[in-house]
Amino acid sequence: LADKMKVVPSAIIKKLFMQGKIVTVNQEIDYDTAEEIALEFEILCEKEEVVDVIEELLKEEEEDEKKMKKRPPVVCVMGHVDHGKTSLLDAIRHTNVTDREAGGITQHIGAYVVEVNGEKITFLDTPGHEAFTAMRMRGANSTDIAILVVAADDGVMPQTVEAINHAKAAGVEIIVAINKIDKPSANIDRVKQELAEHELIPEDWGGSTVFVPVSAKTGDGLSDLMEMIVLTAEMMELKANPNRRARGLVIEAQLDKGRGPVATVLVQKGTLRVGDPVAAGSSFGKVRAMMDDKGRRVKEAGPSMPVEILGLNDVPNAGEVLVGCKNEKEARSFADTFISQNKAKLLEETKSKLSLDDLFTQIKEGNLKELGIVVKADVQGSVEALKQSLLKLSNDEVVVKVIHGGVGAINESDVSLASASNAIIIGFNVRPDAVAKETADREGVDIRLYRVIYNAIEDVEAAMKGMLDPVF
Ligand code: GDP
Repeated sequence: LADKMKVVPSAIIKKLFMQGKIVTVNQEIDYDTAEEIALEFEILCEKEEVVDVIEELLKEEEEDEKKMKKRPPVVCVMGHVDHGKTSLLDAIRHTNVTDREAGGITQHIGAYVVEVNGEKITFLDTPGHEAFTAMRMRGANSTDIAILVVAADDGVMPQTVEAINHAKAAGVEIIVAINKIDKPSANIDRVKQELAEHELIPEDWGGSTVFVPVSAKTGDGLSDLMEMIVLTAEMMELKANPNRRARGLVIEAQLDKGRGPVATVLVQKGTLRVGDPVAAGSSFGKVRAMMDDKGRRVKEAGPSMPVEILGLNDVPNAGEVLVGCKNEKEARSFADTFISQNKAKLLEETKSKLSLDDLFTQIKEGNLKELGIVVKADVQGSVEALKQSLLKLSNDEVVVKVIHGGVGAINESDVSLASASNAIIIGFNVRPDAVAKETADREGVDIRLYRVIYNAIEDVEAAMKGMLDPVF
């Protein structure tokens, strides 16, 4: 059968394995199975073309330095609930709406662009680290700089710490905005002190983190914040090649009654133009029209620009990668392959998630240099005790790193962080809540629960040495 279909036998064996059937190369399969397989591979035949495209895209990854041009930073806003993330995003957007822009008020497309002294900054309009890490969980990195909003009258709170650790795990630059400085109870120094405990040390204290006191209410400090973003972006030397096929990220998408599927795309590389054939996940089409964040029709969008596009045949998921294609046929086959590969890919990805059971194998194969752990416990003392003991388990082969520690039940944020960072979760005297449990099952995140600290340490140590007793 493999010969007839001109595919390697292992491809068929793998396919059957996915369906739960274990066969060997010289085993006969019945007609129905053969037909089913042949049908599946008919779709996959076009895959070769898609593989070409992917390879081409990968080749372009190592792009010629000369073709790279400066691009605006993409910024998101994180922090504890009620510390003013939404207010800050609104205030920034409004300072930038000039009289020239008829109507003044912009529409919400999931991102907007402001201009500061001729430099553009792109803001993602969905505040919070949840949205940020949900994208990362799908393998997409959307952000360059995270603005950590901390209310000056409230200080560092649990979600502040979550946000810090989510941003750190993603390796994005953090700028602290101390908000609500208009309030009489504001205490900027206290916020600095509390953040210093999380290794965010202000420059005037000899550290390297930028702190900007602001008020989203009065607008105080906003221009300083904008300037610091521009400066930080300059130091990061953010670049992309605008002269290539477009590649972007779907930030939002919905079905519009009059206009059909509408997707907001953040272009990351290349230039997206009206008329371009594109594919995003399982949807494809030709860009019929594009609008910028001010609702103006535009003909093209370069790196870091968010645009709303019309013309897809279906609504893609947020976090999906959009690619510009040679022609519509290529776009269609890209989408088809995505559909047919999706299940298999998901299965493989789920399997490749880290668990204590295969830790040793991963270390031995050299796949793992760093063991990321999220620690949750019932009291802060236990979080610290666990953290300290776990860190000490680091050896020459693998570094143990506690990417987040906190008090309380294991929540969805912990699971998404672990999933996006290929980490495991250790809970001490706490349990995952229902949503966290479901997400962990779906994403294949390993959660280990303990009632004795020593047992947790012992398990991780044993797993690192390949001596963990299997759990059935
Ligand atoms: P989010 O949950 O982080 O998005 O916070 P919001 O933007 O919804 O703000 C929470 C509350 O704080 C709202 O009642 C805002 O009006 C208020 N707020 C936000 N920024 C400021 C500020 O700079 N000063 C004062 N006094 N209140 C603020």
